[in-house]
Amino acid sequence: MESAPSTVQSTILAGLRCRCPRCGQGKLFKGFLTLAPNCDRCGLDYGFADPADGPAFFVMSGVGMAVIAIWAWTAVAFSPPIWLQFATVFPALIAGCLLSLRPVKAWLVAEQYVHKAEEARWASIGGHGEGGFTWDRRRPSDG
Ligand SMILES: [Zn+2]
Repeated sequence: MESAPSTVQSTILAGLRCRCPRCGQGKLFKGFLTLAPNCDRCGLDYGFADPADGPAFFVMSGVGMAVIAIWAWTAVAFSPPIWLQFATVFPALIAGCLLSLRPVKAWLVAEQYVHKAEEARWASIGGHGEGGFTWDRRRPSDG
């Protein structure tokens, strides 16, 4: 087994290559965006990985701002015909999102691995409804 990436640069490289965040060799995906159950090289269980809709948000925001900024500038500077704007802007948006979604998801999984990020776990301290979080409604009818 090799060491985990410990720098931002190595998590970005693992993301760009869509590889395992621990060994950097095994494949991270078994489909276009579906994570493999574990690394085929070092055996790291990918069960910890859950970037949820983070990759989609960052990709849509980044690609959207970049493409729309370029489109707005060319529309003002060159006044291209509307058919050319439709023929370039929508394919650029779709291609930009599809091409960058996998690396961004892989990068966020690598960041989750490095920072040991996981869902919050809640433990009860007991005493719910007895002066804790809620008002005890049983007392008036019980008395
Ligand atoms: Zn691995």
